[in-house]
Amino acid sequence: MRCRFCDTEIAEKALICYRCGRATTDPKTAPPPRPRGIPLPAAVAVTVAAAGAAIGLPEIADGTALYAGWAGLATLATGALALWWGGRGGRR
Ligand SMILES: [Zn+2]
Repeated sequence: MRCRFCDTEIAEKALICYRCGRATTDPKTAPPPRPRGIPLPAAVAVTVAAAGAAIGLPEIADGTALYAGWAGLATLATGALALWWGGRGGRR
């Protein structure tokens, strides 16, 4: 096939023209970079939900299970806030 920019004969499977260096096909548009992190309302929602679950947890668990549940919920809330915090810088 021929380069559509400089009309040089190039290999059929060539991705770029060896002469002018241009792509033989339209470059696939890269998907927009996903913003790292989550919006603040989502982080707050997770935190509130975790807090609510933590308050209700003693009703369904005690002892080690209760503390493990609290630890898990705290990790969840902290993780959500960390995701939000981490995404703030990326969107600038
Ligand atoms: Zn070319």
